[in-house]
Amino acid sequence: MIKVNQLNKYFGDLHVLKDIDMNVNRGEVVVVIGPSGSGKTTLLRSLNILETPESGEITIGERSLDFSRPQKKKQLVEFRKQTGMVFQNHNLFPHLTAVQNVMEGPVTVQKTPKTEAKKKAADILNKVGLGDKLDVYPHQLSGGQQQRVGIARALATGVEVILFDEPTSALDPELVADVLDVMKELAEEGMTMVVVTHEMKFAEEVADRVIFMDQGTIVEEGTPDEVFHSTKEPRTQQFLQRIG
Ligand code: ADP
Repeated sequence: MIKVNQLNKYFGDLHVLKDIDMNVNRGEVVVVIGPSGSGKTTLLRSLNILETPESGEITIGERSLDFSRPQKKKQLVEFRKQTGMVFQNHNLFPHLTAVQNVMEGPVTVQKTPKTEAKKKAADILNKVGLGDKLDVYPHQLSGGQQQRVGIARALATGVEVILFDEPTSALDPELVADVLDVMKELAEEGMTMVVVTHEMKFAEEVADRVIFMDQGTIVEEGTPDEVFHSTKEPRTQQFLQRIG
């Protein structure tokens, strides 16, 4: 479903992604872990073309981008439509209700008729446990509920891949579980997911594969059991010890 080949990204002189190779199969849940500043978010944002790598290729589904060549804007737009992204801070429109936030993408990007988009948005909000909050504005929702609207937004355009960038790290601890439960449910339904998170328990329970990054490289990848309990990589061991 996703294939990353020799991806490099710089911020000025800072080499943030160094020859990254990565594959994600359809229906797979891949959790990316690693120390702060190791490039996890930049990798995820590159998959959604929120960052533009300097070289390398990304294939998602049927579409490929080769970053060593100039890209046409239309190509980038089409490529980006294939993935949904859930951010640390939900990025909801404050002046739109929950249901309006969720139907916004389908209506403006996919030109879905409003009544149809609204019905679908309501169904999705129902699915993430917010069926009673359709007409409520973001400021009237808890952080965890806002984040679930964020997930509903990502789902609304019918994407096959969802990228999660530390979806629970801005939440109060008691709100984290609801968001993780929704993510778990999506995983069980076969959604392809790449998740940057510090929630090791979630990674252990839900991930098919864990990728450990450090200093812009993928140091190792394996099943949660391999990475968390039997790694021989000193850098992984050190990281796991530090986070306890
Ligand atoms: P992580 O998600 O693992 O914490 P990031 O991908 O956010 O790491 O960042 C990797 C490195 O790139 C860090 O050194 C960070 O400071 C730097 N960086 C990230 N975004 C930018 C940016 N927009 N401009 C300059 N440097 C950036």
